[in-house]
Amino acid sequence: MSRPVFRFAPSPNGRLHLGHAFSAMLDHTLARAAGGRFLLRLEDVDVTRCRREWEDGIFEDLAWLGLDWDGEVRRQSAHFDAYAAALARLDAAGLLRPSHATRAEIRAAVARAEAEGRPWPRDPDGAPFPPDDDRHPRDDEPVARRLDMAAALSRVPPLDWREAGEGPMGETGRVAARPADWGDPVLARKETPSSYHLAVVVDDAAQGVTHVVRGRDLFWSTSVHRVLQTLLGLPAPVYLHHDLVRDATGRKLSKSAADTALASLRADGLTPADIRRLIGWGAVERRLDSLNESLTRSV
Ligand code: GLU
Repeated sequence: MSRPVFRFAPSPNGRLHLGHAFSAMLDHTLARAAGGRFLLRLEDVDVTRCRREWEDGIFEDLAWLGLDWDGEVRRQSAHFDAYAAALARLDAAGLLRPSHATRAEIRAAVARAEAEGRPWPRDPDGAPFPPDDDRHPRDDEPVARRLDMAAALSRVPPLDWREAGEGPMGETGRVAARPADWGDPVLARKETPSSYHLAVVVDDAAQGVTHVVRGRDLFWSTSVHRVLQTLLGLPAPVYLHHDLVRDATGRKLSKSAADTALASLRADGLTPADIRRLIGWGAVERRLDSLNESLTRSV
C-alpha cells in the first residue's frame, strides 16, 4: 500500500485553542505512527472571516507544540477554481438549485414559526432549513446555490463510511450516512464561492488524503461528504472522529473562548508539557496502539 496521508485543516479565523492542540497532536501522532505524511491545510474559503495574522498564529502554535508538517501548506483561497469546476460538474448534472432566502429572511421565518410554537427543521449543526419559497424563482440573483439532495440521492446508492473513531452515540465501524438530515446544503454563496463541504471533499481528494482525523462535531458532516465524493467520483478516506476537549463546565471549546487560546496560555508561562496535561494526552498515549490498529484495519 502507498504511504497514508493525514491532514490537519484549521480555519484561520481565530487563534488555535486547546481543542485544536488535541486534534493536531492526535493527527500528527497517528500519521507518524503509520509512517504517513502529515499535511497542513488552511480552510480559508470564508475570506470575510479569515486573516493573515491568524495564519501566522497557526504556524507559531504548531511549531511551539513541536508539530512539523510535510510539503507546502494548501490555502483553500488559492483553489477557488477547483471548487468552481466541481460545482460546474454538479450543475451540469442537474444537481444544484438556486437559493433565494437570505440569512435574515431565514431567521425571520424561524422566529415567526417558533413564536407560534411550531418547531422549525434544522440540519445536524443546528442551522435552520430555508423556508419553502427559497427555491421559487425571483427577479433578483440567488444568494446561494444548494445541492438538490433529493436529486442527488436518486443518483447514488445508500452510502456509508469507515469510522475508526466514534460518533456522538458511539457509532463506529461501517457507519451508514444520513445525508437527508442535511436538507439541501449550501455549496456556494454569492460572497463565498465554495462552502466548507465542497472544498473539503475536493481538497481531500486533490491532496490524496487517506485518513481524516477530526473532531466529533464534524461526524455527521461526513454524510454530505460521502454524497459529494460519490457524485464527483472521488475516493472515500477512512475517518476517525475524536472526542472534543471540554472546559471545566463541560462546554465544548470554541475559538472565541480566548482563555484556552494556546497563545494566551503560552503568555501565561505554560509549556507544551502543561498543554498535554490539560488535554489529557496521557490517556491518549495509552490508547495509541489500539487507535492506530483500528485506523489501519480494513473493515
Ligand atoms: N476547518 C475545519 C475546522 O476548523 C475542519 C475541517 C475538517 O477537518 O474536515 O474545524
